[in-house]
Amino acid sequence: DGDATETELVVIGAGPGGYVAAIRAAQRDLDVTLVEKGDFGGTCLNTGCIPSKAYITATDIAHEASNAELMGISANPEVDLSAMNEWKNGVVDQLTGGVEKLCKANGATLVEGTARFVDDHTVAVDGSEGQDSETIAFENAIVATGSRPIEVPGFAYSDEPVWSSTDALAATEIPDRLVVVGGGYIGMELSTVFAKLGTEVMVVEMLDDILPQYGSDVTKIIRSKAEELGIEFNFGEGASEWTEADEGIVVESETEDGETSSYEADAVLVAVGRAPVTDTLDLEAAGIETTDRGTIPTDDRMRTNVDHIHAIGDVAGDPMLAHAASKEGIVAAEVVAGEPAAMDVQAVPAAVFTDPEIATAGMTAAEAEEAGFDPVVGEMPFRASGRALTTGHTDGFVKIVADAESGFVLGGKIVGPEASELIAEVTLAIELGATLEDVASTVHTHPTLAEAVMEAAENAEGQAIHTL
Ligand code: FAD
Repeated sequence: DGDATETELVVIGAGPGGYVAAIRAAQRDLDVTLVEKGDFGGTCLNTGCIPSKAYITATDIAHEASNAELMGISANPEVDLSAMNEWKNGVVDQLTGGVEKLCKANGATLVEGTARFVDDHTVAVDGSEGQDSETIAFENAIVATGSRPIEVPGFAYSDEPVWSSTDALAATEIPDRLVVVGGGYIGMELSTVFAKLGTEVMVVEMLDDILPQYGSDVTKIIRSKAEELGIEFNFGEGASEWTEADEGIVVESETEDGETSSYEADAVLVAVGRAPVTDTLDLEAAGIETTDRGTIPTDDRMRTNVDHIHAIGDVAGDPMLAHAASKEGIVAAEVVAGEPAAMDVQAVPAAVFTDPEIATAGMTAAEAEEAGFDPVVGEMPFRASGRALTTGHTDGFVKIVADAESGFVLGGKIVGPEASELIAEVTLAIELGATLEDVASTVHTHPTLAEAVMEAAENAEGQAIHTL
């Protein structure tokens, strides 16, 4: 095609996978074109990580203020949702604007529109308002098109009372009653937000626990705090349909044995998982294969079955997390630049921003045993932490898993205040091949929550100072 723009690398999608890949590629002096059909920053910055954490912080402040009598503080905060949304949108705008500027400053060419493959060296970009499509001839491509919320039959997101996480994060009114379908991390984070805003929250979950991958030692703490907040759990039920009622809606659910229940509510938030976005890409035109789930499989250099086309982030499957997308983006960009990069990390941490927070990295004791280690587990409950006591949040623990013989730290599981921050130390220990002794003998600031990581390592060695 004589009219085609030529580029060394085209990146499709400007989420935390794609924009990071584009910046790293530009830093390596590649000529890079970044195509985005929607808003810069993708799901994470616009409708995911950032707005959800903004809501979580704001509702935490309201909740804390109204529950601080024990500290001698009485307050009755009033939430102005439209002002809260304005603040949240400002945070999002600041970040997305910053990301766009960074991409430009690093020399990436930005193209607005929806990209689709024409063949394995060409994409066409369809602009929004009936503009002609632009053709880009590329040497290499990185597909970073992300994911979207899965719809449950009977619950169309186009119906007003049916909310996706995106709708929940742009609520214009605080519902009196909310059914949340799905007790995964998005369902639980948003249940907590609305419970703290005073909404009566009813969770309907097919399995018999929330967040089952974290284990019952974690989930019993999360469930009991959630129940204290007034969240009601209904396990072993799948939501089947909703209907209009005189006031609000009724959500019906069904057990495996066909028993039905109904819940009166004002809205229903469906949060049952996310599916990869590939439908606009015409992957077949480039010969790119997908799995049954629709994700694009890759090797550890993020290459698809077509060597010069990479896939990263949510579209490349688990773990569907922003920091995984970014790391994969860096690997893919460096591979395109001819470097010997690979996705060879020792641990990808994960965090759930419930109350209290959950964070994990590396292996559980069971996984360590399966991998042939002789695991030892050290534990430090936050009720024995001075700093935790001064924050008023003492639920939870730090658990650290190590190999008994070598002492190598293999994993960590934290539930409690700032777990999402504390897991960074455990992740670093795993990545650097640190031993229990390394962690235990590192001097930690007092009084901090991070001391609990040190104490858990001491406990695994059988010599913690503040626990038995
Ligand atoms: P995305 O961020 O989805 O970006 C893909 C981009 O590609 C989009 O901008 C899209 O418009 C664009 N695109 C798609 N198709 C085309 C096309 N054909 N042409 C051009 N552009 C296209 N993760 C965390 O790690 N921590 C959290 O706390 C967290 N919280 C979350 C909360 C919620 C409510 C949700 C929904 C998600 C959350 N996530 C969190 C997950 C996180 O948002 C994703 O893992 C992350 O955004 C994936 O990044 P990505 O770059 O792969 O895709």
